[in-house]
Amino acid sequence: MTQRYDVVVAGGGPSGAAAAWQAARTGAKVLVLDKAEFPRDKPCGDGLTARAVSYLQKMGLAKEVAAFHRVNRVTVFSPSQWELSFPKRPGMPDHGYVAPRPVLDTLLLEHAGAAGAEVRQSCEVAGPEVDSAGRVVGVVLKSGEKVLGDAVIAADGAYSPIKRALQIDSEYNGYSAIAIRAEMAANKPDSDSLDIYLNLAFRGDQLPGYAWVFPFGGGRINIGLGYVNSYKNWQQINATQFLGDFMRTLPPEWGLPAIDELKKDRLVRAWRLPMGFTAWPPWRPGVLFTGDSLGAGKPASGAGISKALESGLAAGECAVAALTNSGPDDFTNYAQRMEAAWGKEYRRGRYFHKLAGIPAVANNGIKLIDNAFFRDRMLKALYKKEQGPQHRVSR
Ligand SMILES: Cc1cc2nc3c(=O)[nH]c(=O)nc-3n(C[C@H](O)[C@H](O)[C@H](O)COP(=O)(O)OP(=O)(O)OC[C@H]3O[C@@H](n4cnc5c(N)ncnc54)[C@H](O)[C@@H]3O)c2cc1C
Repeated sequence: MTQRYDVVVAGGGPSGAAAAWQAARTGAKVLVLDKAEFPRDKPCGDGLTARAVSYLQKMGLAKEVAAFHRVNRVTVFSPSQWELSFPKRPGMPDHGYVAPRPVLDTLLLEHAGAAGAEVRQSCEVAGPEVDSAGRVVGVVLKSGEKVLGDAVIAADGAYSPIKRALQIDSEYNGYSAIAIRAEMAANKPDSDSLDIYLNLAFRGDQLPGYAWVFPFGGGRINIGLGYVNSYKNWQQINATQFLGDFMRTLPPEWGLPAIDELKKDRLVRAWRLPMGFTAWPPWRPGVLFTGDSLGAGKPASGAGISKALESGLAAGECAVAALTNSGPDDFTNYAQRMEAAWGKEYRRGRYFHKLAGIPAVANNGIKLIDNAFFRDRMLKALYKKEQGPQHRVSR
């Protein structure tokens, strides 16, 4: 039997759960489909920026998010060591958290369910159902079942099968990063800092990327690294080996496991991180793209959870508004919302993405960032409109 919904959301990660929660709250009949059974993991640094925290608070999850491990600052190694506080923005928290994705994502999906969305797990979407006019009118499941929806929200992640099936061509295609991470115990006190290591070199070239050590609390940490694909030799990098090399530069007293051990136990995972709007415009008749399937990741930093939440909430709201007023052929309201939110920033970010991939630029850039005088001025210029992060040299 073919079922029919107002909104069908393919993918129940942060962007899909946020979209479903938002649409269901307006009274729409919403279905979320995810191929995984939750709690499921997603390769991630698990870092929640202050902005991500603010979206979770807006969704009514302030108490739940406060239970994660809180971080109050960022420590940067460039290679000299300096600190940044989170920027102070009106109505926003001045701190972040480190949240294990299996826990965070299950919380979000259950929250969408509590708002009235029907959730079906272990249910893989094979592709979109398209009518003779080329409009997406639902999805086809791997089982062969069809599920019809007036609007489909493609929140199916970095490898989005819906986007692939529709052969979405965007002028911003191809902007992405590759990132890898592992979770482990460490013999070090739990810190309240997101530690970022900028000095990553491959065959003498400074890479456009960074490594991180994020604390979960309870003696566990997330270690990872990522680099963008504008660097011409990025495909020659063996990410697992590279992560192992980085881990060997960390203090031996932390007692970290060898990378081969983590690999053997399947604790190291790499994933793609599309960024800078790889599906633009972010909709086609009948379908809206959110989170990683939209390429919503921030081009410079790769922070994706806040962008997944923001685009998901906007897509849920814009889909229902369009269906109520003009129908599923035109979701320009969503494109306008995304353009207003990030258009200018992402144009700059895509430019930066390309520039940072040129080794001579990256090699000189890292030297400048390592210089306290230049860094101070750069941060002031970047945050001139708001009370930006306070920064101090700690060593
Ligand atoms: C190594 C790494 C580290 C990162 N670290 C950070 C960080 O510290 N902070 C941060 O903000 N961002 C980080 N990011 C980015 C962040 O993880 C993503 O941007 C974010 O997960 C995007 O959310 P999403 O909901 O769009 O996609 P996802 O979280 O990938 O969710 C997509 C969902 O779709 C489901 N799905 C996929 N295919 C199908 C199908 N065919 N049928 C049904 N369901 C399907 C999946 O099971 C999944 O649940 C990192 C990324 C990587 C790769």
